[in-house]
Amino acid sequence: MEKTTYPTLEGLKCPKCQSAEYKVLGKGGAAAKEWGTALAFGAVGGIARNFAADAKAKEDFELHPIAYKCMGCKKNYETLPFEAMEDEILSKECTVVFHRLSAFASMAVSQQVYLNGVKVGSVKNKKALVFKTYTRNNTVFVTDQHGKALPGVFKFVAAEGGTQEIRFKNKFIR
Ligand SMILES: [Zn+2]
Repeated sequence: MEKTTYPTLEGLKCPKCQSAEYKVLGKGGAAAKEWGTALAFGAVGGIARNFAADAKAKEDFELHPIAYKCMGCKKNYETLPFEAMEDEILSKECTVVFHRLSAFASMAVSQQVYLNGVKVGSVKNKKALVFKTYTRNNTVFVTDQHGKALPGVFKFVAAEGGTQEIRFKNKFIR
């Protein structure tokens, strides 16, 4: 039987200085075809397709490297998510409800929601997107329709069988 794998950003570090502090820049891609390792993530792709929230995201699914800016050495780097270790995987999935609150400036455009470096769906103004996570430590970020990251990263520890609510209005609302 094929082993199911789950994406994670736990352990993400700058390849140059090893700093774990980063800012998400958005969807990478110029270097995408150089990612020989992408093949190794085929199974991650499979599961990601399953947790993608909407039919459109499933259809559009491709695993893209994400670009980050290192807050240590200020260099940019791109990487795919990693495969979650066994102790990171929940025995029962957690439901995530992402609420996009009304924001006039960006009203007309849909925003792209990423869980652990993988796009799970797009969300319109004043709408919610529901998806699932299978890993304990989670990182959510949002990009505009061109793949450019909006400010901030939301990290949470998922409760087994639980629900996590997230509110976003051009940035994460705590
Ligand atoms: Zn660095």
